[in-house]
Amino acid sequence: MQRLIFEEEHTMFRDSVRRFMQTEIEPHVEAWREAGICDKSAFLKAGKQGLLCMWADEKYGGLGMTDFRFEQVVIEETIRHGDIGLFLSLHSRLVGPYIGTLGSEALKQRLLPRMISGETILGVAMSEPSAGSDISGIKSRAVRDGEDWIINGSKTYISNGINGGAFVVAARSVPGKPHGLGLFVVEEGMPGFSRGRNLSKMGLKTQDTAELFFENVRVPAENVLGDPEKGFYQLMHFLAEERLISACQAITHAQVAFDITLDYILERKAFGRPIGAFQNSRFKMAEMRTALDVTQTFMDQCVLLHNAGQLSAELAAEAKFHATEVESKVMDECVQLHGGAGYMSEYRISHMFTDARVSRIYAGSTEIMKEIIARSIGLDERKLMGPH
Ligand SMILES: Cc1cc2nc3c(=O)[nH]c(=O)nc-3n(C[C@H](O)[C@H](O)[C@H](O)COP(=O)(O)OP(=O)(O)OC[C@H]3O[C@@H](n4cnc5c(N)ncnc54)[C@H](O)[C@@H]3O)c2cc1C
Repeated sequence: MQRLIFEEEHTMFRDSVRRFMQTEIEPHVEAWREAGICDKSAFLKAGKQGLLCMWADEKYGGLGMTDFRFEQVVIEETIRHGDIGLFLSLHSRLVGPYIGTLGSEALKQRLLPRMISGETILGVAMSEPSAGSDISGIKSRAVRDGEDWIINGSKTYISNGINGGAFVVAARSVPGKPHGLGLFVVEEGMPGFSRGRNLSKMGLKTQDTAELFFENVRVPAENVLGDPEKGFYQLMHFLAEERLISACQAITHAQVAFDITLDYILERKAFGRPIGAFQNSRFKMAEMRTALDVTQTFMDQCVLLHNAGQLSAELAAEAKFHATEVESKVMDECVQLHGGAGYMSEYRISHMFTDARVSRIYAGSTEIMKEIIARSIGLDERKLMGPH
């Protein structure tokens, strides 16, 4: 399907990103997958190519490119010619804007150039052993001490957790108030900050996911993001973009799975004919082609709305919910069409299948997305049931 969302400048940009991914990233993916982590040099190279935090102002060394379509191109080419576990966009567009928008001038002057170059890799630390979907259950504490804040607690499942040099950490700053959270930038080397091992996962093998620990970590005022008691609302503000990024990743991942499956079923033969000649294969592919085109059209519309500052939390939730469900179904059908080969690690589709499974869980699970959408149409359980 021809996509009308992109203009000439995006197409030229895509050509250069594709060349970069093919030469600098793709040849290393297998080794990173085996190591269970990508090499930090991937970020340095992407930084040198001008692909990180493109939105940042020129005075910090950025390109001032806020148009999300450029990030969409980076996401699409990273997945097509690299790997979905290489979280360049988590660094650039999911975490970076917290610092770019809410950070003190001193923090921005110090960190932004390093974020743009890839010297400092970012992560966001919300989830805890007892608080995932329900971030109002966060137990990590932040206590004011003069101008500074002292952080205690732990986080889990944190992406870029091993490679990361700076983390946006959500901690309880107002005891007893469910939404009384603050956001603090904790940096590598701060006394009391440590990380656990690289967690072993079913998929996303190029992505490092870790626990983080905070023991009396002293965070200077310069590293406090926005109002230290309004972190919950600040998180909510950025979650729409996080979900849009997840949705873009999911639909691209599914598009790539479709393409490699099409190649496979044209090549592989059974009963004297290509697998693709069976009516079941043709109909499955037709169903997937339709689902992908419909979803991509909706996604592109969401991107344009986001560029116009009009992507609501519920529409972002619809995009994340729908794109990740389509991704899941497409992956399953594509493995099936590969037969036994689809279960073998040497075939890309086998790890795409396991990589995809997390999409419906992280960045807000499918169930939480449905909650957000249901509330937006007046079906708010708390309001409907009234006080107990
Ligand atoms: C690979 C990976 C990377 C991650 N990266 C990060 C990261 O960088 N930073 C970060 O902060 N977190 C990260 N996470 C954590 C992720 O965001 C959480 O796992 C996710 O939000 C779900 O929380 P949970 O695991 O505690 O599940 P739970 O909240 O315990 O949920 C368990 C199940 O119950 C369902 N459920 C929960 N509440 C409701 C409800 N109200 N109604 C209906 N069903 C409900 C959920 O949908 C789910 O199916 C990552 C997780 C993974 C697996």
